[in-house]
Formats: sequence, C-alpha cells, structure tokens
Amino acid sequence: MSYNPPIGFVKKDIQLADNLKKLSLLKSYSKQAEGDFPLLLTPEFATRIDWNNPKDPLLQQILPTKHENKTKPGFVVDPLNESRYAKAPGYIKKYHGRAIMQLTGACPIHCRYCFRRHIKSNNIPKSINEWSQAVETIRQDKSIKEIIYSGGDPLMLNSDKLLEISNLLTTIPHIKRLRIHSRVPVASPKRITPDLIKALKDLPLVMSMVIHMNHPAEMDSGVKNTLQELVEAGIPLYNQSVLLKGINDDVTTLITLSETLIDARVTPYYLHLLDPVAGAAHFYVDEKKGRELLLKMRPMLPGYALPMLVVDIPGERSKLPIL
Ligand SMILES: *Cc1c(COP(=O)(O)O)cnc(C)c1O
Ligand code: SF4
Repeated sequence: MSYNPPIGFVKKDIQLADNLKKLSLLKSYSKQAEGDFPLLLTPEFATRIDWNNPKDPLLQQILPTKHENKTKPGFVVDPLNESRYAKAPGYIKKYHGRAIMQLTGACPIHCRYCFRRHIKSNNIPKSINEWSQAVETIRQDKSIKEIIYSGGDPLMLNSDKLLEISNLLTTIPHIKRLRIHSRVPVASPKRITPDLIKALKDLPLVMSMVIHMNHPAEMDSGVKNTLQELVEAGIPLYNQSVLLKGINDDVTTLITLSETLIDARVTPYYLHLLDPVAGAAHFYVDEKKGRELLLKMRPMLPGYALPMLVVDIPGERSKLPIL
C-alpha cells in the first residue's frame, strides 16, 4: 500500500504559476522571508484562496511577507524550548502520560506562524532502525499511555512506514492510544486514502486525530468527505487553531469556524495563543483580546463547540487555559 505521489510543491504546478506570479507582485511579498522558510502549499489549499484579495485569510497563512523580517524581543527560534524535552531522536516527552513522536520534518503547506518553522529536522529518524532508541525509551517508561504523532506532519510519511512504526508501538503493552496531529486532512485530503484509513482503524490502539484549521474557508467538500470517512472509521476528530491577527481574530469568524467544524463532526479542541516564534510577531493576538473573544463566543455556541483558549508556557506540565 502506498500514498498517491506528493501533491504539494505547487511551484511545479503549471496551473498555479500565474497565481504565484501574482503572489510575488503583492506589495507585502518578501523573497528574503521565502528564503528563510520556503513558500509551500498544495493545489487543493490553493483553490480555496481568493488570489485577488491580498487580505485573504488563507493567503495570509502561506504568503512570505516582509513583516517576517522584523525581529521583536521575546520572539525566538525555539519558543517552547522543545529541544530540552527530546529524550531520544524524534521523541519529545514533556507532559505526563503522553508523548510525541516526530515522524518527519515534511509538511503539506508551510504555515508562516508555525512555532517549528526554524527547527531543523536532521535529528528525526529516517529508518525503522533509527527509531529503535525512541521505541526502547517508550518501552521503559510505563507512565506513557498515549503516543502522539507529530512533525512536520506525520501524514506526509508514506503509509508503509507509518504503519511499520505503529506496529512497533503495538508491541508495547502500556501504549493504549495513538493520536495523530495533522494538517493533511485540510491541506491535502486526498492523501488520506481508504487503504490508509482502514489500516489505521485496524490497529489495536484507540485512535484519534487532531486536525488543524484556522478559518472556515479552509473547509470544502473534499475536506469534509475525508473527515466523514475518518469519523465513520471510528476515529474521533478534534481541531486545533491558532489565534491569528487579521485572519481569525474576530467573533464572527471564530463562531463560523466552530460551527463549520461541528457540522463536519469535528470537535473544537484548542485555540492557541500564538507561540512567540521569530518572524511571526505580526500575527500575535494577546491574552486580553483572546479572553474577550471567547467570552463573546460562549453564549453563541453549544458548549462542545467552544475551544479551550490555551497558552503553551515552557516548563509548564500542560497547556494552560486562559479563562
Ligand atoms: C501539546 C503537547 C502535547 C499534547 O497535549 P494535550 O494537552 O494532551 O493535547 C504533548 N506533548 C507536547 C510536547 C505538547 O506540546
Ligand atoms: S508543522 Fe503544521 S503548522 Fe507547522 S508548517 Fe507544518 S503543517 Fe503548518
């Protein structure tokens, strides 16, 4: 079983060449920013962009801009100090009972606000042998009950490898749950093939998936179909978003986002304050504004449609709720 060939790397896509040219003509576009963190998006994500609107909420998520070249005190390369928690190559254990495996450094799209945008992926294991250190570390630590696949984006890995690693985890008795954190269902839904869904469903682990959508315009029928297939396979879906200035920092957008998600049977999970990563300060929305937005959302939505507004503070033992 294998994935369809990668369908990111739009630069090679002739259909989109014109739009990309339009992009580089935009006043805010910066070649330097693109050099620091390359422009990357999928054709599917591109079709949801209004290319004639420089303020388009999806365009802003992927367009390298000159704002990124400004430095701001406190906005740093590794804002969560994740390197401190790497217990083995590709393995990050920070919280109790659950830990992260970074399966790849690759992503379907490059989100300009990403807190891992400066992190090199050299350390991530590439072969099953290279995973043995992480797997043995997990085997020795009986407190870990849940493994979270992260990245990059774990669903950029080919499915044979993904399943090979997952099968290793099933040999560890205290691992009960597997959670996949991925932007692929939104950015490149066709990568999630029926074969892959079936294979995940058949793993003897309690599966869940946390997708990543920041704006309701990221949903379309292709995304929705993939989400339905996952839910029908018994994989519960959650969503995490980042609160982003000029993209989703208004009540109407956030309410519509929550409603769009629950109508696709996805439960809103976290709404993150932006992690202070170098190059993304222009997206920052502060705690006070975040709290105001959430207070306005609360009476307008079913309780289960309200995400938890959280901040990730290095050294804390969980993400911290703001309200
Ligand atoms: C966010 C995060 C998790 C998962 O936390 P949950 O609250 O269980 O969603 C695990 N490890 C790290 C390092 C994290 O940043
Ligand atoms: S890790 Fe996730 S948020 Fe960061 S660039 Fe990749 S897809 Fe976007």
